[in-house]
Amino acid sequence: MEYKLLTPGPLTTTRSVKQAMMVDHCTWDQEYKTITQEIRQKLLSLAGVSSEEYTTILMQGSGSFGVESVLSSVIGPSDHLLVCVNGAYGRRIVSMCERHHLTHSVYEVAEDEIPQVTAIEKILENEPTISGIAMVHSETTSGILNELEEIAALAKDNELLFIVDAMSSFGGIPIDVSALSIDFLISSSNKCIQGVPGFSFTVAKREQLEKRKGFARTVSLDLYDQYETMEKDGKWRFTSPTHTVLAFHQALKELEAEGGIYQRYMRYLTNNRLLRQKMGELGYHPFIQQHQGPFITSFLYPEQRSFNFAHFYQHLKQNGFVIYPGKISSVDCFRIGNIGEIYPEDIDRLVKVIENYSEVAYVS
Ligand SMILES: *Cc1c(COP(=O)(O)O)cnc(C)c1O
Repeated sequence: MEYKLLTPGPLTTTRSVKQAMMVDHCTWDQEYKTITQEIRQKLLSLAGVSSEEYTTILMQGSGSFGVESVLSSVIGPSDHLLVCVNGAYGRRIVSMCERHHLTHSVYEVAEDEIPQVTAIEKILENEPTISGIAMVHSETTSGILNELEEIAALAKDNELLFIVDAMSSFGGIPIDVSALSIDFLISSSNKCIQGVPGFSFTVAKREQLEKRKGFARTVSLDLYDQYETMEKDGKWRFTSPTHTVLAFHQALKELEAEGGIYQRYMRYLTNNRLLRQKMGELGYHPFIQQHQGPFITSFLYPEQRSFNFAHFYQHLKQNGFVIYPGKISSVDCFRIGNIGEIYPEDIDRLVKVIENYSEVAYVS
């Protein structure tokens, strides 16, 4: 059954991105290595950074593998990482720190609030050993968009390592990696670049990466080793997801054809505003009041009605849309993503399906 994915990734891709996978490519071939190098170069330009100061490392696996690769490869024995948490993905960073026995502290705020720079300043005063900050940009748990600027400036002023999980935002909203002086930014193939799942990528400041050679706690997720090998001629250390790489290469061309990140951001923003406005008219309220991001929205279950998510989900799926269950700890929500090959017409059609559902499901 064909449907549009209104999820934060994997998401709906174009036919041409899927078509790019209809080739079985050799990984040793020069042509393939050139594709890898082109991807790395294009990611640097999307990040707005120079290849002298920054590099890109592609890593097999889903987005979490990329985050774990960074954490387990760059946090050294004398480091102390402060992790900002306001959702499940921040908590996942904490789990990784625990598993690798990385010295860390946690700064947690409610899932509908964003981390505050003033609070971080206080933590730094009390814990002078802190040498780095890790945070999520778009917390996909709720759809909230955390603010990077002030925390980035604080990290820079205090010479702290700055790690950003920009999984569900990179490519879908302008992020000036160089101005923010982000040391390690992680994203993946199947989110706002609109490729298919299979690898993650890290935009890394070369100086920081070089300093951290030999810190890795695993072999397969060793960021430095992967960098060293890839840097030579574009070869991945172990088997690479060839079809995914070809699809991603095509997806990057399509991002360019759309007009770049800003244009894509405007499309996502238009989709998101339309979605929230029309859902509001139907009586569905968003969980996030302030700092709602343009990628995914959490809606509260409708009040005073016998709302059954599984039933709702099936109805939507039968009518061509797949949405996401909620992930908020305190309240019942469902989530609707508006990224991927999705346009305002799709949102209009979705809202009609939901309106129709409300009529059939609540009459009795
Ligand atoms: C999608 C996502 C990840 C990675 O999730 P995977 O399932 O491992 O791809 C990490 N952080 C955020 C904020 C995400 O949205």
